[in-house]
Amino acid sequence: MHELSLMGDVLDLVQRDARKRGLERITGVRLLVGTLSNAMPDALQMAFLMFRAGGETPLTEEAELTVETEEAKAVCVLCGLEYVPDRTVAVCPDCGLPSGKLVSGEAFRVLSYEGS
Ligand SMILES: [Zn+2]
Repeated sequence: MHELSLMGDVLDLVQRDARKRGLERITGVRLLVGTLSNAMPDALQMAFLMFRAGGETPLTEEAELTVETEEAKAVCVLCGLEYVPDRTVAVCPDCGLPSGKLVSGEAFRVLSYEGS
């Protein structure tokens, strides 16, 4: 499950930042995940719970993961049409060409976290 390694990276990042700020416990993590990012929110939740149960991270027993979704959006460089692409290679519905430039939907980042 590739979300497991993604979540491992997220928790590494959070843990390092938390240590710098003198936080010992993490009570919540908020992620922004694009619909075209190849990360499934359900699988991310599952990975988060596995890490939480594993006890090797500073996550508290009640720590929660919040996943915010970034909708995919593309703009055609030829006609300027803005549309919702279903994949990262965005075919403009008007021109019928892969002329769409993806402007959102590939995000995968930590928005914030809480700790004490
Ligand atoms: Zn177009």
